[in-house]
Amino acid sequence: MKVPLLDLNVQYEPIMDEIKAEIEKVLESHKYILGPQVKEFEEMTAEYCQCNHAIACASGTDALVLALKALNIQEDDQVITTTFTFFATAGSISRVGAKPIFVDIKPDTFNIDPQKIENAITTKTKAIIVVHLFGQPAEMDKIMEIAQKHDLKVIEDNAQGIGAKFDGKFAGTIGDIGTLSFFPSKNLGAMGDAGMCLTNNDKLAARLIQLRVHGENPKYFHKWVGLNSRLDTIQAAVLKVKLPHLENWSEARRENAQYYYKNLKDVSQIKVPFIHEKATSIYNQFTLIAENRDGLLEYLRKNNIGCAVYYPKPLHIQECFSKLGYKKGDMPIAEEISQKVISIPVFSEITKDQQDYVIETIKEFYA
Ligand SMILES: *Cc1c(COP(=O)(O)O)cnc(C)c1O
Repeated sequence: MKVPLLDLNVQYEPIMDEIKAEIEKVLESHKYILGPQVKEFEEMTAEYCQCNHAIACASGTDALVLALKALNIQEDDQVITTTFTFFATAGSISRVGAKPIFVDIKPDTFNIDPQKIENAITTKTKAIIVVHLFGQPAEMDKIMEIAQKHDLKVIEDNAQGIGAKFDGKFAGTIGDIGTLSFFPSKNLGAMGDAGMCLTNNDKLAARLIQLRVHGENPKYFHKWVGLNSRLDTIQAAVLKVKLPHLENWSEARRENAQYYYKNLKDVSQIKVPFIHEKATSIYNQFTLIAENRDGLLEYLRKNNIGCAVYYPKPLHIQECFSKLGYKKGDMPIAEEISQKVISIPVFSEITKDQQDYVIETIKEFYA
């Protein structure tokens, strides 16, 4: 048997004809950038996430840069974020000239530790970028309280959490701006790069719309230096077909996760993901803490099971951030967790047979 980490073949099979027809329409219209399908997709996403504005752009990374620029984060400003995330979260802070301030995570949810945010605040702190890692929202109640107390902006990097909720509210709509990524392997993936900003604030929405076209308004008049970060119409056409399926896909992931919870609970060498009582996860990843992680990784791969380490090295000790002065030992939880995590296949279309095979192979390894 073979179990990939993600199987786009089975995901696309039932909807491919519809997608091709939608792409065909774009080809006939020749409106390749920010065409009418982009606006339709923006409206659909805003409605799905129950927020006022959705502004599409070229990638999840660009969405973060646009969000920081819209909030006027610039040189000398400090932005607090988690050290345990995909690189883009912190890379975007550097890209606007600001300084990333890393904090450690909670050992159970892998999300940023609100307590440690408070300790990292200085007079230069302007914002917090929260990441909803692996599809589970961070503790937004505590984080918003801290932000309000210290007058900080909040960006939610929701690249991995579209449709997840915290305390009944959609992730990505609780802070000032939320960002989404439609990278092909995300829960809602395009056929290339694509991203989006979400906000309930009319002024920020207007700024984001302007910033994604070089800060111009009207045309050829520039108030700010923005980006070229517009969404291709073809990507919007693809995403428009896929979005109505997202809720079912997420539900399937949750069921698959439950099956693992039930059948892996007696394996003492691993810990299954912990979900906070106020959070619902969309299980972008199902990430275990495993004894002899590297051995397990090798064994699963040898048996044709896709698995991955997200992420093998926390950001505070990445070479590109060495000037920031962090050293090994500064964020002990993230450093330890990065040596122990392994993500196993949980995609919507995985079969019970495939899951049984994953479960049996894990048990076999530890037996
Ligand atoms: C995927 C991802 C991004 C970047 O998205 P792109 O669309 O690949 O630019 C940012 N942050 C996190 C947490 C991600 O997982």
